[in-house]
Amino acid sequence: MARPEITPLDEEQRERVRRVLRRRRVACPSCGNRRRWAGGDALHLGFLFLDEDEDEDEDAYMIAVTCRRRGCPRARTGVIVHRADVLEP
Ligand SMILES: [Zn+2]
Repeated sequence: MARPEITPLDEEQRERVRRVLRRRRVACPSCGNRRRWAGGDALHLGFLFLDEDEDEDEDAYMIAVTCRRRGCPRARTGVIVHRADVLEP
């Protein structure tokens, strides 16, 4: 059984995670890959102030992501997203 604060993502939500990673040009801290990611589950963080250009706090999640580049020495990392980026239509 999953821990209660973990939200499993479906395939569409994982694709939205990959879109967020591409839009932000997130690079793997180990190998620099920017394009090939696998999205994992979401960990609820609560309300965080994320960006200077945001007017209000929003519910935030840490998404576990895995770099898909072959041979990446440390493929697992995470990205913080707003709830609306991934979990809402
Ligand atoms: Zn990597």
